Parts: sequence; C-alpha cells; structure tokens
Amino acid sequence: MKTPEVDLSDCNMCGICFDLCPTTFQLNESGYIEVVHLDDYPEKDIDEAIKNCRGDCIYWAESG
Ligand code: SF4
Repeated sequence: MKTPEVDLSDCNMCGICFDLCPTTFQLNESGYIEVVHLDDYPEKDIDEAIKNCRGDCIYWAESG
C-alpha cells in the first residue's frame, strides 16, 4: 500500500496540504506537519497537495 510522507526538512509550513487534504495532513502538538494514519488515503486530494506543496516535500512511499 502506498502512503504519503512529508520531508519536514523542506517543509516551510505553508499550510496548503492541510487546507487541501485535512483528513491526511495535520499539525501536531509541536507545530509540525504530521501524516495521519489511515487505512484508505484520499489519493486525489493528496495528489493535489503534492502538486501545490510549496516545499515540494510531499511524496508517496510504498509501505507494508
Ligand atoms: S504543503 Fe508542503 S510545505 Fe506546505 S505545509 Fe504542507 S508539507 Fe509543508
């Protein structure tokens, strides 16, 4: 299964990912972007976030 990941070293906290896909991307207590663990990711919304991410730091990873 593929899961979205964020490379935090390139993230500039623009907020676009959680605006476009709030089910998947959230701010954690430390103020960093966190990928929520879901059984089924909304692929289209995530692709949209990948396309619009200012830091170009969201990508799909194979897991499981
Ligand atoms: S869209 Fe990209 S740069 Fe912006 S907050 Fe999300 S991960 Fe960070």
